[in-house]
Amino acid sequence: MLNRLDEQSPDALLALIKMHAADTRSDKIDLGVGVYRTDDGGTPVFAAIKRAEQQLVDEQDSKSYLGPEGDMGFVNALMPYVFGEDATMGGRIAGMQTPGGTGAVRLALALGQKAGMTKLHMGTPSWPNHAQIINDLALELVPFDHAKPDGTADLDAVLAAIRGAGPNEGILLHGCCHNPTGVDYSDEDWAAIGDAIAETGIFPIIDTAYHGLGHGLDEDVVGLRSVLAKVPEAFIAYSCDKNFGMYRDRVGAFYILSDGQETLNKAFSNANALARASWSMPPDHGAAAVRLILRDSELTQVWQDELEQMRDRMRLVREKLADAGVQGSVDMTPLGGQNGLFSVLPVSKEQVAQLRDDHGIYMAGSGRINIAGLTMGNIDKFIGAIAEVTAE
Ligand code: PMP
Repeated sequence: MLNRLDEQSPDALLALIKMHAADTRSDKIDLGVGVYRTDDGGTPVFAAIKRAEQQLVDEQDSKSYLGPEGDMGFVNALMPYVFGEDATMGGRIAGMQTPGGTGAVRLALALGQKAGMTKLHMGTPSWPNHAQIINDLALELVPFDHAKPDGTADLDAVLAAIRGAGPNEGILLHGCCHNPTGVDYSDEDWAAIGDAIAETGIFPIIDTAYHGLGHGLDEDVVGLRSVLAKVPEAFIAYSCDKNFGMYRDRVGAFYILSDGQETLNKAFSNANALARASWSMPPDHGAAAVRLILRDSELTQVWQDELEQMRDRMRLVREKLADAGVQGSVDMTPLGGQNGLFSVLPVSKEQVAQLRDDHGIYMAGSGRINIAGLTMGNIDKFIGAIAEVTAE
């Protein structure tokens, strides 16, 4: 039976990790893997997480099963950060814990499909797993351009997608720190997007995987909140794997917004059933640690200070790149106005290979770079290599 299966291509980024690991050059630079790195190149566990984990070890008295909705203390503690002071928007939001943001995206799309959604509009390029999940569910993906060649968001393209959508269609938007482009909509863009969604009735799904890594915890959800204020229904997929550094512990949440209590309960019961049929219940440890942080004002401060340090460091790297301006055929100026962990450089696959072979610089074939892979110690080498490899 198994010989009927087609071979699947391996994850390109995992292949890149292996190549980078095998490279013996001491000044090699890894801009591939999507994790935050300090200026020393490490990805340490947050101090706030270490303290919360110690508390868990000391105080947790059972590891007995929770339900498919996971740790509701975690789910609720996160809500004011996402939705604001009126954290349930007047009782219109219900949420559950998921295995990472990936689990939340999967649940959002599966539930949308169960409710009759057939087509999903999405700006491209996007996080590759979005398309994989869409394909796996056999939903129809309708792409539109996310960014313009000048490195800013293509507002006209997203508005045209929304205005042209028929019934039973959804749109997947990145809440902030767009992966891979780093190009976010402005607050004014979001206002126009929210108005257009409200007019046409397209179903919004907002994926927020980098909350707090752009401009700040409040600033990064202005767009999300402005859309939610205008629409009757929406899904929100949320990841704590970047903003709490929990990657492998798989910490995420899925929220449903609805304008009717009965509809909300029905939708939640379906999400619950889908979760049960998929992973039964999410892993507890990471979410429990995040709950302990968010329920303790001192730990919350420690976490927010760490998040601010990450943000400031990435801003500094972006400023240095932007200051370098045009290098060879690449204008780095737009990177200064982009957000989060990633940006895409206009380099060809051949140039990416040359950067790897000649300079030990590892990045995705698409030209996506992890901003946090650059440090004050290697950024000049990187800029010089771009100038050399892309010189006409
Ligand atoms: N959405 C986007 C846009 C992402 O970039 C990622 C992570 N790379 C996720 C969702 C999923 O995050 P997690 O690791 O929590 O599953």
